Amino acid sequence: HIPVICVDGPTASGKGTVAVAVAARLGYHFLDSGAMYRVTALAASRAGLAIDTAHEAAIATLAQTLPVRFEGGKVWLAGDDVTEQIRTEEAGMNASRVSALPSVRTALVALQHSFRRLPGLVADGRDMGTVIFPQASLKVYLTASAACRAERRHKQLISKGISTTIDSLRADLEARDARDSSRSVSPLKPAQDALLLDNSEISITQSVDQVLAWWEGRQPF
Ligand code: C5P
Repeated sequence: HIPVICVDGPTASGKGTVAVAVAARLGYHFLDSGAMYRVTALAASRAGLAIDTAHEAAIATLAQTLPVRFEGGKVWLAGDDVTEQIRTEEAGMNASRVSALPSVRTALVALQHSFRRLPGLVADGRDMGTVIFPQASLKVYLTASAACRAERRHKQLISKGISTTIDSLRADLEARDARDSSRSVSPLKPAQDALLLDNSEISITQSVDQVLAWWEGRQPF
């Protein structure tokens, strides 16, 4: 039995930070499924493919043999370190567009499953609990208000020297959530057996502790 903890939720809800911290505390592997969609979108654009249904089959073929590597917090596409490049707002929006193509989602399933290794996995995404790991031992759906998420993203970008406004970030993340929630395949929604955690008013540390407490409560299997 290989334990899996899923952390799903909307854009900028703090999933990534919480999932990485939980994985570190438990010594588990970490899957950033969003990065796979981000890298797929980048690979499509490098191949000169527009992200639309007309190019769905070609992009799915790319995704099936995506030369992506995750190493020590870095993301590589073929020989290039694309860690920073895939983190922009534009890359997020392109990822959202590529992720709405059903055959692209199917093409990335095996790669996501390959992260499930001993001693365990913490998986971050939108459909970890609903589609990719439906048998997971613990499913968390992490949310925060749109205002709060926009503010956090704003702080992050400002600290990197990127100038932007809270209002435009909020509009972007609401547009991305709307697309992710309304697509025909694997729409963003909590799994039926997910535990909801709204972290608008609590710190990352408190969120991590809550997830770990839920995890303790589930042991032994
Ligand atoms: O989590 P992140 O912001 O990196 O995800 C980028 C985009 O990839 C999301 O907006 C969503 O459209 C898509 N995604 C997805 N399913 C996942 C993870 C991400 O559709 N499991």
